Amino acid sequence: MKPQVISVGESLVEIMRDSPGQPLDQAGVFQGPFASGAPAIFAVAAARLGMRTGMVSGIGEDAFGTLLDRRLQQEGVDCSQVQRLPGTTTGIAFIAYQRGGEREFVFHLRQSAAGLVDESAVADSYFDEVKWLHISGSALALSPQSLALCRRALALTRKNQGRLSFDPNLRPELMPLAEAKECFAPFIEQADLLLPTVEEALAITGTEDEEEAARRLLAGKDRILALKRGGAGSTIYSRSGRVDQPGFSVVEVDPTGAGDCFNAACLYGVDAGWPMTQVARFANAAGALAVTRQGPMEGAPTVAQIEVLLQKSV
Ligand code: ATP
Ligand code: MG
Repeated sequence: MKPQVISVGESLVEIMRDSPGQPLDQAGVFQGPFASGAPAIFAVAAARLGMRTGMVSGIGEDAFGTLLDRRLQQEGVDCSQVQRLPGTTTGIAFIAYQRGGEREFVFHLRQSAAGLVDESAVADSYFDEVKWLHISGSALALSPQSLALCRRALALTRKNQGRLSFDPNLRPELMPLAEAKECFAPFIEQADLLLPTVEEALAITGTEDEEEAARRLLAGKDRILALKRGGAGSTIYSRSGRVDQPGFSVVEVDPTGAGDCFNAACLYGVDAGWPMTQVARFANAAGALAVTRQGPMEGAPTVAQIEVLLQKSV
């Protein structure tokens, strides 16, 4: 069976400091490797919600590639288009948290399988039943090959009347903001569901006023804009106006991946045609559950787990 939700972009392993406040320019202890990469976390989150999900990505001929392939398969993500590129190694992200919660990254990506995989990786027929293509800005910023692959995936999705979900996921370590704005513009323009954090929405539109940023991103189109606010929850702007939903109170263990779990849950609700208040609550619950577990995709919840949290917090 072909996937209805397709995530295109980097799968990588994440190797992180075991406690905050240990910068990457000094020797110290790391934990990992953990299966990661925003597109891969999204794919796992979507699969756990029961959506028929596939991934188009590149992995290397090494142990990290084996780890990723095994993990994605175990999670029920279709990996038939995850290419194991001969002679390459798998992408790696080293991550440190500063004491204030800011993140520092060192990426080994551009020359990895994630950066080298190109549009020839896509079998056209893989998109025959696609309802949603999900793209993260990091996949556009990663390399010219990855950008070309994303463009091709979007063209195939449009040909099959599928919709585009886009998370800018700005990573200045991969591409400076000015360049990213230009590179992402055609994807933002075509997105049916836009999933930035508040900070990203302001940075991309170059304004300090959230309402103005929302107006510019909606651009008078029939699209949905969900703004993520970390522990404070989210706001959804759509044709029917603005909906604010506070975050759920949970103990944060590891914030990485919250955005991607929120994205998958938001797409789930939009796909089901729910009212925006329900979509925002459901997606906030998914993001909240995601931060309660160590590891980028460990906390991605099932629908049943989200319902338990929703019922506890009526
Ligand atoms: P990442 O890029 O690390 O995956 P993000 O920065 O894109 O994350 P966030 O705004 O941190 O996204 O988180 C997405 C959503 O998850 C939030 O809008 C909120 O609903 C939920 N969430 C995140 N952190 C918390 C928290 N500490 N407590 C409760 N909910 C949270
Ligand atoms: Mg994010």
